[in-house]
Amino acid sequence: MKIIVTGGAGFIGSSLIKLILAETSDTVINVDKLTYAGCLETLEPVAGNNRYLFEQADIADRTAMERIVNEHQPDAIMHLAAESHVDRSIHGASDFVQTNLVGTFNLLEVARAYFNALPDDRKQVFRFHHISTDEVFGDLEADAHPFTEETPYHPSSPYSATKAGSDHLVRAWFRTYGLPVVVTNCSNNYGPYQFPEKLIPRVIRNALAGRPLPVYGDGSQIRDWLYVEDHARALHLVLTRGEIGSTYNIGGKNEKKNIEVVHQICDLLNELRPVDDHDYRSLITFVTDRPGHDRRYAIDCSKIGSELGWEPRETFSTGLRRTVQWYLDNDDWVAMICARQEKQNQFL
Ligand code: NAD
Repeated sequence: MKIIVTGGAGFIGSSLIKLILAETSDTVINVDKLTYAGCLETLEPVAGNNRYLFEQADIADRTAMERIVNEHQPDAIMHLAAESHVDRSIHGASDFVQTNLVGTFNLLEVARAYFNALPDDRKQVFRFHHISTDEVFGDLEADAHPFTEETPYHPSSPYSATKAGSDHLVRAWFRTYGLPVVVTNCSNNYGPYQFPEKLIPRVIRNALAGRPLPVYGDGSQIRDWLYVEDHARALHLVLTRGEIGSTYNIGGKNEKKNIEVVHQICDLLNELRPVDDHDYRSLITFVTDRPGHDRRYAIDCSKIGSELGWEPRETFSTGLRRTVQWYLDNDDWVAMICARQEKQNQFL
């Protein structure tokens, strides 16, 4: 297959591209605007692969996307490009509306025109895979059943609201125009190459610098965590074996309070990079909670398990150990990202 991956220079997209190139004979065209979150260096190991191509483009640019899709004639589009950081969306939602909503709409229109012109045999193969988040479901009571594919949407932040809107657009393009789509909603990802503004890499980075480890509120918010390679594997499986028009929830079966995650990171650092004068846990500092902060997300991922046979390979303990070790071994990657952000006056 020839697959266009949007947002391939981001955290999940780059992991997905590496997995596809390593484990299949597919060709990948990475379409990425290279916003502050895009990092081509992450893809250096595959940059010379003759089944990998990069196109720098904004998904909201109709002319550019038409040119790319018509030139490369993909069998599938995996759509990951998005503004993805909740705190940034609270700070200013404009880029989120533009990329997550307008960009997705634009991509759907380009994909629809392309799909309609395909011969019948290629129409059978073509898929538009929209990659989304469990945050669209909103806040879950402590004793409530985890989100299923039927859970109604109740997004709380500008980020999750724009992702929810994009999910609705994708499903409407299936119902109204017959575009062959699949949608996945996944829980929090973690792993190597995650941008240092997100919880796990931020805690590791601050801890290593001896700085406070900020925890929102009392740290009792619960999230489900999935190792990024497990997500990438699930995405390729849904693309190739998922039922057209269907949604699949993807999760790690790892519900954790934020404070438990921070404690586990501190304990791993105490073991792997001990310092004489303090326990890393002593750096934990509780800060004012994020406005509209959802208390719990949890995913029921039994459908992808029973229908497609997917199971996460990493537990939270094994995945977190690999992640912490990776950040310890790759401080040059983190330093490069941070230096770039400082140059652009971006906050981290
Ligand atoms: P990321 O922020 O690390 O990467 C996003 C990528 O999209 C970047 O490379 C960026 O340059 C690119 N991009 C942004 N705007 C663009 C535009 N207008 N045109 C083209 N490229 C653009 O995000 P991520 O964590 O890798 O998430 C990828 C997708 O998965 C997102 O759609 C996100 O909503 C979803 N998701 C993320 C998580 C998570 O925990 N990170 C969980 C579930 C779902």
